[in-house]
Amino acid sequence: MADLDLLVLGSGVAGLSAAVRAAEIHGMRVGVLTKAELQQATTRWAQGGVAAVLNEDPDSTDLHLADTLSAGAGLCDVDAVRVLVDEGPSRVHELIALGAAFDRDPQGRLLLAREGGHSLPRIVHAGGAATGLEVVVIRPALVYGPGVKANFLRLLGLIERGVPLPLAGVHNRRSLVGVWNLCDLIATAARHPAAAGETFLVSDQHDLSTPDLVRSIAAAMGRPARLFPFPTPVLRLAARIAGQGGAVERLVGSLQVDSAKATRLLGWLPRVSVDDGLRRTVEWYQSRSG
Ligand SMILES: Cc1cc2nc3c(=O)[nH]c(=O)nc-3n(C[C@H](O)[C@H](O)[C@H](O)COP(=O)(O)OP(=O)(O)OC[C@H]3O[C@@H](n4cnc5c(N)ncnc54)[C@H](O)[C@@H]3O)c2cc1C
Repeated sequence: MADLDLLVLGSGVAGLSAAVRAAEIHGMRVGVLTKAELQQATTRWAQGGVAAVLNEDPDSTDLHLADTLSAGAGLCDVDAVRVLVDEGPSRVHELIALGAAFDRDPQGRLLLAREGGHSLPRIVHAGGAATGLEVVVIRPALVYGPGVKANFLRLLGLIERGVPLPLAGVHNRRSLVGVWNLCDLIATAARHPAAAGETFLVSDQHDLSTPDLVRSIAAAMGRPARLFPFPTPVLRLAARIAGQGGAVERLVGSLQVDSAKATRLLGWLPRVSVDDGLRRTVEWYQSRSG
């Protein structure tokens, strides 16, 4: 160990790439220290392949970026994804130069597979696209139904107790999806041959403002909707000061989801209307609170 220039910890793709590069390019004496066995790394499980734009026509790194951000549903760091899509192709070529034997067609061209979230085939793989899984990504709007938790459950409690809510002046639009419609789309996508590799947004296809939502829930409970107007900017500011900015934003902000693609490709339509879904949710809520 004392004779080493570099000790790499971990034997996954990151560690082994660093070790090979340090040895080959910089002529270092390298050791690899890993937990348990050499083969024990997440890298061994990544049999689906590596996504990178290797065939620029009709693909592009901008399209790869857009697909990744869309599948990430707002969770991605855009700068990190930009690095991933821009540097991915050269990293794959480096792996090939190091001896990675990705699957090729009889003419020697790389075989590219397509997985959920990718609008074009761009996954190189070895030993077949080995999972054999056809992936469908389903991104729901705010899900409600029996068992609902968090803000929606709190809202049910406030309406039931008749607490006056300062939301009459809110002019937003929010998509919701009842658990029945979400399950129905999952079942439809599992059966439908056109679903594989696609991303679907799902909602009840009837967006509501928050005051309308409160009125519908109150009507289902047989109670008056107690709403009064209050300037929304002041509400937002007060919520931020109280550390409740996120919760209030979800009440006053807009978030709409267009599930037209599920209708177009799969012929899917919501089976349960928002009113019916809210009524069933209120029934569950009232049965649970006695
Ligand atoms: C089921 C599954 C499927 C996947 N499919 C894909 C796919 O199709 N395509 C894709 O791009 N990505 C896929 N991924 C993700 C991919 O596997 C990882 O992003 C990638 O392998 C991470 O490589 P790494 O070298 O950073 O980490 P790892 O491969 O996890 O390597 C970490 C190494 O560090 C070692 N180690 C940990 N702790 C210590 C310690 N204390 N001391 C010494 N050594 C330690 C571990 O033993 C291991 O050797 C998949 C992941 C999983 C789990």
